[in-house]
Amino acid sequence: MLTLIPIPAFADNYLWLLHDGQQALVVDPGDAEPVQRVLQQNNLQLLAILVTHHHADHTGGVNTLRDETGATVYGPATEHIPTPYAPLKEGDNVNALGLNFHIIDVPGHTSGHIAYYTPDINGRPLLFCGDTLFSGGCGRLFEGTPAQMLASLDKLAVLPGNTAVCCTHEYTLSNLRFAVAVDPDNQTLAAYQMHCENLRRQGQPTLPTSIAQELLINPFLRTRQSALISSARHFDAAAYDDVSVFAAIRQLKNKFK
Ligand SMILES: [Zn+2]
Repeated sequence: MLTLIPIPAFADNYLWLLHDGQQALVVDPGDAEPVQRVLQQNNLQLLAILVTHHHADHTGGVNTLRDETGATVYGPATEHIPTPYAPLKEGDNVNALGLNFHIIDVPGHTSGHIAYYTPDINGRPLLFCGDTLFSGGCGRLFEGTPAQMLASLDKLAVLPGNTAVCCTHEYTLSNLRFAVAVDPDNQTLAAYQMHCENLRRQGQPTLPTSIAQELLINPFLRTRQSALISSARHFDAAAYDDVSVFAAIRQLKNKFK
């Protein structure tokens, strides 16, 4: 049995740690200190560090953790990750904790962003998707185009519905305020918003989410639905194809307060 822990860091990051009682891996350790604390408390040996993209809040703790533990660092082949690390691209695999992670290229938030997918952990698939997919939202397009991000999200959307989706930020409530504005008649979304507000009131994470849940409520996975097309056209009358609708929804989110 493996244990999955979202370690809170900074204002709203989660550093996901997975362990079997003795050995552990961590994803996107932007800060070493909270990871070291969990390793010590649980008497765990860190074997692997999985990095999804180059941003400092995902890599700031990599060197310290590698130096202290000897863990192997994995990261995207085409981005600047603290060296030495094993460079990965789509089609590659990482073996750790008896699991096999498949690498999926998901450019958009950054140009070389990757995700890690494993088909069976405690009976269900699991995805570490960095800043590509959030509950109710998606990452900002710092380096990629709307077409790239839409193609990346389309790859994640076809993963099994029960896939546990481990996003790296607790952005859910603010994402859902935007989601209800552009998808106002979605009753599943309204119920999910209440559920997540309750979780946050109790100090609980809203994550992991699942692919099936996101397909029902996430505007960035629903840009081919009539409600989202209509919201996009309200903003940009020329939003007529998949990419321009997606681009319009992303721009609306950037401006949303
Ligand atoms: Zn980022």
